[in-house]
Amino acid sequence: MKPIYFTPGPAALYPTVEAHLHQALRDNIPSISHRSSQFRAIYQSAYEGLRELLDLPTDMGVFFVGSATEVWERVLQNCVEQASFHLVNGAFSRKFYEFAGLLQKQAHKQEADFGKGFTAGELHVPQGIEMIAFTQNETSSGVATSVETIHDTKDAHLDSLIVVDAVSSAPYPIFDFAKVDSLFFSVQKAFGLPAGLGVWIANERCLAKAQALESKGINTGAHHKLTNLWQFFKKFETPATPNVLSIYLLDKVVQDMLAYGKDKLRDETDLKAIMLYDFLRESELFDVFVENPEHQSNTVIVANTRQPASPILKTLEEKGFIIGSGYDKSREQIRIANFPATSVEQVEMLIDAMSELS
Ligand SMILES: *Cc1c(COP(=O)(O)O)cnc(C)c1O
Repeated sequence: MKPIYFTPGPAALYPTVEAHLHQALRDNIPSISHRSSQFRAIYQSAYEGLRELLDLPTDMGVFFVGSATEVWERVLQNCVEQASFHLVNGAFSRKFYEFAGLLQKQAHKQEADFGKGFTAGELHVPQGIEMIAFTQNETSSGVATSVETIHDTKDAHLDSLIVVDAVSSAPYPIFDFAKVDSLFFSVQKAFGLPAGLGVWIANERCLAKAQALESKGINTGAHHKLTNLWQFFKKFETPATPNVLSIYLLDKVVQDMLAYGKDKLRDETDLKAIMLYDFLRESELFDVFVENPEHQSNTVIVANTRQPASPILKTLEEKGFIIGSGYDKSREQIRIANFPATSVEQVEMLIDAMSELS
């Protein structure tokens, strides 16, 4: 039997990827020009599909870049002149914050302990912050920030750009894009695709900010600066040769998700999360790591193990289930991805296998 991946990224492929990959090869997709009408049609279809799946307004651009890590750099270069503010509660949010310092911005942060989260009323945003950076789903700890907290932060800080790393949650959370200026993800997590593509979504306020920086003579980068990405986006092209195959597969999977039903997809994520958390709570071997239910992620579920984690992972692997190891190696933990690619039935099978452990 093929193993089932419950790893938080790279993750299980969305079930239709294999067939789309074969079709792409039959149709020579990896060889087509990125300056052809065939490529422009793929980009446009992916853009329109993402707009429907994520409820994006028409004034937002969708750009294809190398990875989410690249977006950390690009968004800081293009949307911050002096100061950014970061909510840091794990490895990914910390790296985003560190990038701001490396790019010589004034990097401010508010920290929460590993396994803890943030609530709107408790944020202390300093004066003069141009960008507030949320890591909506902190993949290292399994802590999610509620969309309400993010929206309320916009209401309280209308002059700041709200930038959201939704790498290990999108397309699950439903954002109000009147209150989120930029969002990004890479495709190898909840979209269930091979790694090697980052998707950066930004509105015209971000574009205006980048233009303002450029008119002041501030360096916004050379490769993939926002003004350039946007120029090319208008004709559904990219400045450099992109990962055409990956954009093709993203388009196909987004269409499949829409055909399946975006509500159904999200309802199933909720259901599978309840099943997993219920099991962990009752289990003698595991404990739910994130204590506050309001901060428990529904897409990356982290548990403490009462025995060393690595033999548990090994036994599950022998049973055909690949589970994520803990990110913080000083703890005995496991991480279970709950992405659309894995079905309710597969989660039931995993829970059965985990309940046989002793
Ligand atoms: C995986 C991950 C990233 C980095 O994604 P890459 O594709 O490796 O660049 C960034 N943020 C979060 C929250 C992640 O889970």
